[in-house]
Amino acid sequence: MKANTLLQIAKDFGSPVYVYDAEKIISQYKRLTSAFNKVKHLRVNYACKALSNISVLKLLKSLGSGLDTVSIQEVRLGLAAGFEPKEIIYTPNGVSLEEIEQAASMGVQINIDNLSILEQFGTKFPDTPVCIRINPHVMAGGNTNISVGHIDSKFGISIHQIPHILRIVENTKMKINGIHMHTGSDILDIDVFLYASEILFETAKHFKQLEFMDFGSGFKVPYKEGDIETNIEEFGKKLTKRFNEFCKEYGKDLTLAFEPGKFLVSECGYFLTKVNVVKQTTSTVFAQIDSGFNHLIRPMLYGSQHEIVNISNPNGRERFYSVVGYICETDTFANNRRINEITEGDILAFKNAGAYCYSMASNYNSRYRPAEVLWINNEAKLIRKRETFDDIIKNQIEIDF
Ligand SMILES: *Cc1c(COP(=O)(O)O)cnc(C)c1O
Repeated sequence: MKANTLLQIAKDFGSPVYVYDAEKIISQYKRLTSAFNKVKHLRVNYACKALSNISVLKLLKSLGSGLDTVSIQEVRLGLAAGFEPKEIIYTPNGVSLEEIEQAASMGVQINIDNLSILEQFGTKFPDTPVCIRINPHVMAGGNTNISVGHIDSKFGISIHQIPHILRIVENTKMKINGIHMHTGSDILDIDVFLYASEILFETAKHFKQLEFMDFGSGFKVPYKEGDIETNIEEFGKKLTKRFNEFCKEYGKDLTLAFEPGKFLVSECGYFLTKVNVVKQTTSTVFAQIDSGFNHLIRPMLYGSQHEIVNISNPNGRERFYSVVGYICETDTFANNRRINEITEGDILAFKNAGAYCYSMASNYNSRYRPAEVLWINNEAKLIRKRETFDDIIKNQIEIDF
């Protein structure tokens, strides 16, 4: 988006504010579906934990997307956004049998990732088709925070436990209609993904009533200059070929499913903040903005680098700044980063602020969570109000002493 447009939005809606460019979400969705246009039945289920605003959900629904959910609340949000139950897959981890039963009663596709619940659910509801999440033990990406397929991960049922799965399925007579993996949040290498896919194909052969295979996500998007990006077009070609071969072998045209979050919504987002103070110490120049990790935790939690642009002075001379927040805690967004010269009052735009930014925000320091704006058809639409003091106090119960 243009710096001027973003500046105007910051003026009109105040700061801090999240802005999402609808056009980018649409083009990413189309990029993914075109890469797999030789697959007969393709399903993209948007992983809505990345950015769960109901208007974003409705936009994705209008494109033909389904929904990947990880909690009963996300299921309800999806239904409220107009998704049909059968367009929603529910992929929780470590939730109670009660919550899974509740989701099943709403008619959504259940995905189970542990043997204990599989056996209990199958015994109680043998007629409800279930997908199984396996752990192929593939380490994709280098950061253990985001690699969920390796040997001691809490996600999925180990492929070494397939005999056990088969015993449960046989004993309960339950129907397994899907097989799933999600190996982590950063696939650096297509070959790693294809290798994991082979394991999923091997696993799929054990189940005769499959309707779909879900290859999860982990598509990488660039955050900073020089970052690798998943070559989705090449990946599409290679996996399509393998998938179509497999369907022939299996004797049925299965649905190929993905559940991307970051790929669809990371790059659409801009987080606009105002510089309150420029503080020169003996060694560093700090730019202190009207935000903190209460609004954007990824740099502190994952060490992720969001590009920061001074949209108030895009052509100014570059200088080095450490960009930090205003909460009473170390909340560093960037260390000694080259940014166009900053004056107090300038607006800084954080890029890649669509995925896992607002959805991870909190009220720490009793600050309000920001507003959210969707930029669509050259118009800025408010899709979430900034919180007010009422939101901070509304569930608190006062005791008089
Ligand atoms: C979070 C999640 C995703 C989305 O991952 P991205 O890296 O954002 O694409 C997909 N599937 C499951 C099960 C998830 O938990």
